[in-house]
Amino acid sequence: MKEDTEMNVKTGAEHRASLRDGRDIRIEGRRVADVTEDPAFRGAVASGCALYDAQSAPEAVERLTYEVPGLGGRRANRAWQAPRSYAELVTRREALEEWAEGHVGFIGRSPDHVASCLVGMEMDPAPFEAHDLKRAGALRDYVAFARAKDLFLTYVIINPQADRSKQASQQSNPDLALHIVDEDHEGITVRGGKMLATSSVMANEIFVSTIQPMAPGDERHAVCFAIPVATRGLRLLSRKSYEAAAGHPFDAPLASRFDENDAVAYFDEVKVPWERVFATRDLRIMQAMWHETPAHVLQNYQCQIRLLVKMRFLAGIARRTAEINGTIGMPPVRDTLGQLAAEVGMVEGLLRGMEAKGRMHNGFFVPDRTLLYSAQVLTQQLYPRFVDTLRELAGGGLIMLPSSAADYGDAQIAHDIAATQCSSVAGPMERVKFFKLAWDAVGSEFASRHVQYEKFYAGAQFVTRGHSFRTFDWTRSSAAVDRILGETPEPVPATMPIAAE
Ligand SMILES: Cc1cc2nc3c(=O)[nH]c(=O)nc-3n(C[C@H](O)[C@H](O)[C@H](O)COP(=O)(O)OP(=O)(O)OC[C@H]3O[C@@H](n4cnc5c(N)ncnc54)[C@H](O)[C@@H]3O)c2cc1C
Repeated sequence: MKEDTEMNVKTGAEHRASLRDGRDIRIEGRRVADVTEDPAFRGAVASGCALYDAQSAPEAVERLTYEVPGLGGRRANRAWQAPRSYAELVTRREALEEWAEGHVGFIGRSPDHVASCLVGMEMDPAPFEAHDLKRAGALRDYVAFARAKDLFLTYVIINPQADRSKQASQQSNPDLALHIVDEDHEGITVRGGKMLATSSVMANEIFVSTIQPMAPGDERHAVCFAIPVATRGLRLLSRKSYEAAAGHPFDAPLASRFDENDAVAYFDEVKVPWERVFATRDLRIMQAMWHETPAHVLQNYQCQIRLLVKMRFLAGIARRTAEINGTIGMPPVRDTLGQLAAEVGMVEGLLRGMEAKGRMHNGFFVPDRTLLYSAQVLTQQLYPRFVDTLRELAGGGLIMLPSSAADYGDAQIAHDIAATQCSSVAGPMERVKFFKLAWDAVGSEFASRHVQYEKFYAGAQFVTRGHSFRTFDWTRSSAAVDRILGETPEPVPATMPIAAE
């Protein structure tokens, strides 16, 4: 059984080997030689590989993967499965939920995110076909290729911030945002930047497009393609590595493992062959690919699955905080925990509601988009509040901590730590270990980046509220208003007597 599994499903070892490909990652003034070994990235890479080890474990392979038709028994992660019924959507969600539990929701751009996006595009090729049949064929073949290889993909679909009051083509630096600079019989050549290539350091390939609205004049910026991260001319300009700064895993148990990284992707005269180009110079397809196919819904539904796992974990941190500090019996603390529990329930309820209210689209069963956008808007606001509540519950315990694991190497300090880290339910080591974890979840630089991530990964609030406004069933609301207005009697206005001449 194990041998079969190893042959038929992508494993962590396979993924690790695939990342030793000469990719160009820059950090701290240097070029990274091997991302799998580099102190800035190796913990995150190990977590990325662990995802594939999890799916290839004999006891999990059936749940987390499915047999891809026509590939002689080869399996791929369930994220690549396009559900044809409510039951298949739920089975897929259960797999994604189980997968996210490995990183308790802290790898935002885990491989199931962009796989969900591409499956959504594949579900309805009509917008791509209306753009160009050859490009639609290239996308179809690419999705089949990525699925067969169970690739880890990430995407960049936002132009770098500069002057947000101007279009991409109007920025003072014409090379700021990625655009087409040349085109020949082999393909296109692109130059410019994109933000923010989360997880790109440990992904196999990068999908490139734009989701921001475009206007006439932006045609050269209207381009969609996918290339291996190790493509010549593509440089990943990494932000600071929280993993590198984490020190001993005891001090930063999350940052040391799950710092998925974010990078500016700079495309320096990158040549993209036609078989990997999915759209060019057409403003209409740049919006249609997200909103006329189920792509935007499926990719963000995956985000809510992951977020639910993270919220459950954070609720666990909240409760443990109260237990360790002896506040769990206090009515206001129980009240706060009850509020947090209700909020986790709201996320789960919205998720299940999206499934229950799902509908058939072109032969596939897709989650309800109105409830998806409700969830996006509400969880963007919820996450920072939730984290703040955890900080409120914890008080100075998050800070009253040894400077690092190295303190335990000194007998006097170790003695003093044991004397001052007390709890009725946990020993000193357990208390310190827990509060180090709690700080990494809600207070550290890593945690702060997560607040920014949950607020912005799907666009700023005006964007997500715009989706909510656009997709809500206003007709039904308006009809209710009209019905009550219609049932409300109106007074008959008295008429003014006609004045005598
Ligand atoms: C940690 C992190 C990871 C990310 N990972 C990825 C990724 O993997 N792939 C990817 O493609 N992108 C990624 N992003 C980028 C993300 O998609 C963008 O941050 C998001 O779309 C918001 O765009 P922006 O940051 O340019 O903010 P802006 O659009 O500049 O908005 C910032 C603020 O400016 C104001 N504002 C700007 N424009 C308007 C307007 N028209 N009307 C009203 N107010 C306005 C609002 O106050 C808004 O909150 C990531 C972002 C973060 C923070």
